[in-house]
Amino acid sequence: MGVLVPRAGAFFYPPQTIAYSVAVLQAMGYQVMAVDAVGEGLDVAAVVTRCRDARPDVIAVQVAPQTWTADRVFLEALRECLPQVPRLLFGTGAVFVQGWQSWADALLVGDAEWGLGQAIAALMSGETVRGLWWAGQSQPPPPVRIPAGASLPRPAWDSLPVERYPFLTLWGSRGCEANCRWCPYVLGWGHTRRARDPETVADELWWLGQTFRKSRHIFRDPVFAADEGWVFDFCAALRQRGRPPAWECEDRPEHLSPELVAAMASAGCTQIKLGLEVLSGPLLHRWGRLPAPEALTEYQVQAAAVIRACRRYNVMCHVFIVIGLGETEADLAATAEFLAAAPPHHVSVKRFIPYPGLRPPEHIPLPEATLNVWAQELARRSIPARPGARARIRRWFRWLTRG
Ligand code: SF4
Repeated sequence: MGVLVPRAGAFFYPPQTIAYSVAVLQAMGYQVMAVDAVGEGLDVAAVVTRCRDARPDVIAVQVAPQTWTADRVFLEALRECLPQVPRLLFGTGAVFVQGWQSWADALLVGDAEWGLGQAIAALMSGETVRGLWWAGQSQPPPPVRIPAGASLPRPAWDSLPVERYPFLTLWGSRGCEANCRWCPYVLGWGHTRRARDPETVADELWWLGQTFRKSRHIFRDPVFAADEGWVFDFCAALRQRGRPPAWECEDRPEHLSPELVAAMASAGCTQIKLGLEVLSGPLLHRWGRLPAPEALTEYQVQAAAVIRACRRYNVMCHVFIVIGLGETEADLAATAEFLAAAPPHHVSVKRFIPYPGLRPPEHIPLPEATLNVWAQELARRSIPARPGARARIRRWFRWLTRG
């Protein structure tokens, strides 16, 4: 149902889209029951039973191309149990699911939080609204997009098994104006960046911290700091409220600066996920990341400054690198050398797997075994933060009191 994990109990993000969508639907007057089958570890029969007992007028199911095989099993069971109840599919990548028309009445293309209410009303009345793709239509309609400055109710995490989530997520902006050709974010959320009001986002984060008492809050924005002024305003709004809850975000090096990292750290930011990538000018230019191969020098200077600023201000810097784009071993060696000179706290290396709908440039990846060796080599460049004074005292105390 839109969540793919390598094994039971592995890391997954809580269903943020559902939390916001439920809140929007409730604000529109709908009675909504949400089921997070993945979070609760429910099997198909248990979810179908829950749906049947709720006697719904409509069932909306989050799906994704990668999980479609399992999604279909659930939709089949649902159809057998509740054949008369209309089924609506949604999800950031749902539009790329092939052959969904045999399993549902319609699919919502675009931002579910913004379009689900109207789509459900249209499904029951047979009308057409933006983003609603009826099973009988051959081509998808233009997506429904949440506009910049949109006002949303606070996410209804309380309608989900929130106690099972180790952290919560939220968002301040959608979309990205860049065009890195490995990136699935822009396929789902589009190329126009739409930001919410920074004061409202600070308010929501504060409320999440006070209400659910989680130790982590993760922004799902693809480029959190694309608008530096927005981030400064958000941090100031957060600091005004008192001791801020811990939060994390992700971005690319050019959007960050040591001053911005300092402001973010003072407003509770504890981790930045930094998309660094393989450091080759021609490669990053070919894949749309850099405007010209020569831009690499400046890119590296910015990346090194961000990594060092994170260390200085106690923000964990988690660097991400996509491999398998046609880079050479010399490119990988140059990246390893850069990381040795400016070591982040953590390095994650991901193998490029084209998302449905992507059109990557022609490329011949290095052999799998070579990529695996380099993935380990790059990951070894992490230098974790030294434990803080409190952690050191706790360890020392444990050592003193050991049996
Ligand atoms: S900057 Fe990030 S979010 Fe934007 S297109 Fe590139 S990889 Fe995707």
